[in-house]
Amino acid sequence: MAGRRDEPWRNPCLDCGACCVVYRTSFYWAEADDATRGGVPARLTVRVGAFRRAMRRGPDGRCVALRGVPGRNVFCALYGRRPSVCRDFEPAWSAGSAGARCDEARRRLGLPPLGKAARNP
Ligand code: SF4
Ligand code: SF4
Repeated sequence: MAGRRDEPWRNPCLDCGACCVVYRTSFYWAEADDATRGGVPARLTVRVGAFRRAMRRGPDGRCVALRGVPGRNVFCALYGRRPSVCRDFEPAWSAGSAGARCDEARRRLGLPPLGKAARNP
């Protein structure tokens, strides 16, 4: 999910952000900073059932931590404190194989799937 700009290779997420727009970001409640110091800011989350939280979403449906213009130029304002589900979400081909959820998010935002070359340094 949306990255940051000081990485040595061109991160395709910086031109995208689709997964931060399309999918609801939910995670175990104790990842938030009212349970874990330095965790996800609880004020940016909503409770979802007894054991989970989700990132708040703005009127346009996207995660409130996403900055910029999806599909063009984005970054995550919480990069160092983003939930585990965001850390674990891999762009297509980052592990050498296609990524259906990445490609589906991009398709729903009107973007083409990532090619194999997208993650080459
Ligand atoms: S949909 Fe894929 S390329 Fe786009 S931000 Fe998410 S992981 Fe990155
Ligand atoms: S916390 Fe950051 S990486 Fe996770 S959905 Fe929100 S903007 Fe995307």
